[in-house]
Amino acid sequence: MKINDRKQSKKAFSDAQSIIPGGVNSPVRALKSVGTTPLFIKRAEGAYLVDIDSNKFIDFCMSWGVFILGHNNNGVNDAAIKAIGNGSSYGIPTLLETELAKKVRSAFHSMERLRFVNSGTEATMSAIRVARGYTGRDVVIKFDGCYHGHADHLLVSAGSAVANISNASSAGVPSAFTKYTVSLPYNNVSALENYFSKEGTKVAAVIIEPVACNMGVVVPDKEFLSATRRLTEKYGALLIFDEVITGFRLAYGGAQQRFGIHPDMTTVGKIVGGGYPAAAFGGREDIMKMLAPEGPVYQAGTLSGNPVAMSAGIATLDNLSAPGFYEELEARSNWFIRRLQCIIQGKDIQLNHVGSMFTLFFNASDVKNFEDTKRSDQQRFARYFNNMLKRGIYVSPSQFEGNFISVTHTPEILEYVLHSIEESIE
Ligand code: PMP
Repeated sequence: MKINDRKQSKKAFSDAQSIIPGGVNSPVRALKSVGTTPLFIKRAEGAYLVDIDSNKFIDFCMSWGVFILGHNNNGVNDAAIKAIGNGSSYGIPTLLETELAKKVRSAFHSMERLRFVNSGTEATMSAIRVARGYTGRDVVIKFDGCYHGHADHLLVSAGSAVANISNASSAGVPSAFTKYTVSLPYNNVSALENYFSKEGTKVAAVIIEPVACNMGVVVPDKEFLSATRRLTEKYGALLIFDEVITGFRLAYGGAQQRFGIHPDMTTVGKIVGGGYPAAAFGGREDIMKMLAPEGPVYQAGTLSGNPVAMSAGIATLDNLSAPGFYEELEARSNWFIRRLQCIIQGKDIQLNHVGSMFTLFFNASDVKNFEDTKRSDQQRFARYFNNMLKRGIYVSPSQFEGNFISVTHTPEILEYVLHSIEESIE
C-alpha cells in the first residue's frame, strides 16, 4: 500500500489547531507521543480507514474498540438511519431503550437493572455515585494505569492519554476532589489486602478494568481478580467492573463471563452504542434502586437512551449474539497472536493479549502493571508506529492503548499486517 505525504491532513491539522485546542477533540488523537500529526478521515469501511489524501489504512484502533463488526456495517447503518427517519431524540421514553436494556441484561447477568448514558465517563461516574449512595461510604479504590473516563475524582494515576501527562493526573482537579480516591498497583494482591485490612470499612467500591486496556493490554492474574471479589465482599464494599472496553469484546458477557466473576455493578460503553454515543451502568436491583426517581441518588441526561444510538446498539448486539460469533473471532485472533509471538521472539518485545485485543510493549521483561508499562521504550514504539503507518497500517497510536481485531480483519489482511510488523520492528 503506497502512502502519500498526507498533505491535506497536515493542512487540515494546522487549520484545526487554530480553533480547537491541540487540533483535536480528544488528546491522544493528536499523535503527539508518536511524533507525527493526525490523519483526517473521510470514510471508513470494514477494516479500512481512508484519509482526506485518499490513503487507505488498515485500522487496528477501530475507534478505540467500538467496531468489533468493522466500520460502516450495513445492518447497523440501516437501523440508525431508520431511527433518524422518526426523529433523532424526544427526551421522552421509547420502546427501544427497554429492548436494548433487556439485551444488555441477557449478556451481563450482574446488570439486573441498568440505565443508559452517553459516554463511558458518565457511566463510571454515575456507578460510583450510586455505590457511594448505597454504602454510605466515600472511599473508592482504583488501580494505577486503569482509566475510567475523565471525571475529576477518577483522574488519579490514570492510564490512556493521561499517562502521557507529566503530573500523572490533571491540572484543574482540586486535591479535595480526589481525597477519597485511592489508587493501588494492578495485579498486587497484598497491596489490596493491606489497604482493606486498615481502611476496609470506609471503602464504598473497588472499580477495575477486569483486563486493563488503558496502559496497553495488561491481563489480571487470576488470584488478583478473585481478591477484588473476595475483599469487597468481606468488607461490604461494592465491586464495579468497568467493561467499557471488555464488554461485548472478550465474550458476549464481557470479562466477567470469561473469568467467571460476578461483580455488584458493571459499566459498558463503546460496542453497546454501535458507533453512536451510548454507554450504560447497572447492577443488582437493590443497588440500582438508589437512583432517582426511585431513590435519592441523582443522575440524568438530555440525550440518554436516544433512539439512534439505541437502534444501532440493538442491531450490533443482534449480530454479536449470533451463534459462533465469538468463537470465530477468537480463533482468528489466536492464529494471529501465535504468528506474532514467533515474529517478536528474541527482540525484547512483550506481547500482551486476550481474545481480540493486544499490545506490543517494547520492553525486555513481563508487563503486569503500570510501572512495567512505563519502562517500555516509547521512542521505539514511536518508530514502530510510524513504520506501520508508512505501510498503510494504523495501530493504536500510543504504548498505553490496546489494538482491536474485528471480524472484518480477514486472514489476508492479517497476513499483510504480520509481514509489516516484522519489517517495522527491525
Ligand atoms: N472506561 C474505560 C475502561 C475506557 O476505556 C474508557 C475510554 N476509553 C472510559 C471508561 C471512558 O469512556 P468515554 O471515552 O466514552 O467517556
